[in-house]
Amino acid sequence: MRYGWMNNREFRFGNTLSFSFDIQHAESDSLARVGTINTPHGPIQTPAFIPVGTKATVKSVLPEAMADLGAQALLSNAYHLYLQPGSDILDEAGGLGEFMNWPDPTFTDSGGFQVLSLGVGFKKVLAMDAQTFRRDDVIAGNKDRLAHVDDEGVTFKSHLDGSMHRFTPEVSMQVQHQIGADIMFAFDECTTLHNTRPYQELAMDRTYAWAIRCLDEHKRLTEERATKPYQALFGVIQGAQYEDLRKKAATDLGTLESSGQSFDGFGIGGALDKGQLGTIVSWVNEILPEDKPRHLLGIGAPEDLFVGVEKGCDTFDCVLASRIARTSAVYTMEGRFNLSNSRFKRDFTPIDDECDCYTCTHYTRAYMHHVFRGKEIISATLATIHNERFIVRLVDQMRQALLDGNFADMKADFLGRYTHRSGQARD
Ligand SMILES: [Zn+2]
Repeated sequence: MRYGWMNNREFRFGNTLSFSFDIQHAESDSLARVGTINTPHGPIQTPAFIPVGTKATVKSVLPEAMADLGAQALLSNAYHLYLQPGSDILDEAGGLGEFMNWPDPTFTDSGGFQVLSLGVGFKKVLAMDAQTFRRDDVIAGNKDRLAHVDDEGVTFKSHLDGSMHRFTPEVSMQVQHQIGADIMFAFDECTTLHNTRPYQELAMDRTYAWAIRCLDEHKRLTEERATKPYQALFGVIQGAQYEDLRKKAATDLGTLESSGQSFDGFGIGGALDKGQLGTIVSWVNEILPEDKPRHLLGIGAPEDLFVGVEKGCDTFDCVLASRIARTSAVYTMEGRFNLSNSRFKRDFTPIDDECDCYTCTHYTRAYMHHVFRGKEIISATLATIHNERFIVRLVDQMRQALLDGNFADMKADFLGRYTHRSGQARD
């Protein structure tokens, strides 16, 4: 089976490099599929895990090492790059990939999640607009409210220097076009599981209105910047834990067309109750157009990746693999553990003897224990290489298992050995 689709705008507007998604195999008894996303900077074989380099770097690791460990693309964040160094700098540099010495595909997260979460301090809740302020204000407690949402956009305080900024759908598109990633996300209002149902409805309506504005501005910028490689725009499906809201969002955004333009793919975002992950993703993916790629935002724990792949997601990103690596936590086939634990002082085996990464083929747990205890910078580099390889390879193995027709066995085998449960994380 082959789903080839190519928007005609790259020809109309003069862009020479296009974006497309081909499905090579689809499971008959689940939503899982194997495909290829083609971008101006090359293909991504899916399902694929996309490592996060929030500020145009995967912390402590060279891009060459990321390529060696099998990363097919990297995801950076529009909010962080807008604040520092400024998206105009990336534009002048020739775009994100050129700027950070990464020739392969890139993604940018829209900044919606970040202006709303970092603007008030991570994992705290936002100030609401006047109408619903009182009801949802309860959750915000006495925290400083540094992000204010209205129908036009979000005003927020920089987490770097306290300066005030405003993101609207148009600004997010302008910033992401300057950054120049192959795949961008529409500006959305990200809620939490604690928001009231009426607020979730309000936020979803707003996200829909913003989606139209993103498509319009994206079209305008694509025309204005016709000599640049085509950048694909993904709509973001919100709706928290509510079945009707998730399905409505998938229906509305899946069929949305504005200025003759529809979304090139979709991100599934927002508040996700991990216990319900598979259910929520199924609601959405059963409705979204089959022939467009789907990205599950901020999910990267091994057990959750199986759920995401089985329920029809094509790409994933998460900061967890690199973030926990810097605290000496590593994934292995036998679960997750901390290398700084004294039981590794004289352990001259690799972190994971089934891993083929640079770290596992050249270093021992005893050495890793030593560099973590000594706070040596190389500890972050070596542990990040291992964790990113572990997750990238795991999703690659899922892809192969789908092609070989033994995904269920592979999943049962992995989960039978790997038991640690860990969380969701966007940066
Ligand atoms: Zn390894």
